[in-house]
Amino acid sequence: MSLFETEALILRTYNLAEADKIVVCLSRSAGLIRGVAKNCRKLKNRFGASLEPFTLINLTYFEKENQELVSFSQTEILRSRFNLTSDAAVMTGFSYMGDLLMDFSPPRQANDKLYRMALACFDAVSQTPSDLEWVLRYFEVWLLKLEGFLPDLRACANCGNTFAGEDPLYLGPDLSLRCLKCAQARGRAIPKSVHQQLRTTEKLSPAKFAEEVREVPVATRKELAQLTYQIISRVLERMPRARPTFVQ
Ligand SMILES: [Zn+2]
Repeated sequence: MSLFETEALILRTYNLAEADKIVVCLSRSAGLIRGVAKNCRKLKNRFGASLEPFTLINLTYFEKENQELVSFSQTEILRSRFNLTSDAAVMTGFSYMGDLLMDFSPPRQANDKLYRMALACFDAVSQTPSDLEWVLRYFEVWLLKLEGFLPDLRACANCGNTFAGEDPLYLGPDLSLRCLKCAQARGRAIPKSVHQQLRTTEKLSPAKFAEEVREVPVATRKELAQLTYQIISRVLERMPRARPTFVQ
């Protein structure tokens, strides 16, 4: 049996037996972990409070060989989100990000970039809840990018020419982007304005991105949301769960 310590973001919990919980979290040094927290529901204790979804904790856990579930032994709250639990939109947004992290991250595989990106997104929304929509778009684009599903945004997958000018790009069924000439109008047209937003995510933090794009027209927001939704659904081969909608 080995003992580990890591920073971790609680994503989801399930009740187990009378007093226990199964906890899923994204940890900095071990990636996605599933573990049992014994007796955390018995009293209104600090152990239980630290396991509320989306809390950032310092986690100490035991791991036994060949066992999928680890055992949580100690936790310490680094950042709680208690002040946001009454904000239904934020909670739906957090659950949505949590679900995607569980869908996309392989268990027990540390990914420091993914961890830092996810944490920055949860923190940006905690700081400015009204930026939720833009932070979710940022999160989706970066999740796809870090997991290797985001098409190359710079050049046509067919001819290799850099995307320039005002022509729309086209997303093919293989999730690659092509220029107007190569696509011959097949696939999903992506207006230049949406391409611009995608490129902007590459350069900024989630908070800065949200600040930069706050005034972007509804049509562009809608197009971008539909595009990320389409790519995610294609990768998962189903629709993502509980995605908050902002624009009808
Ligand atoms: Zn081309």
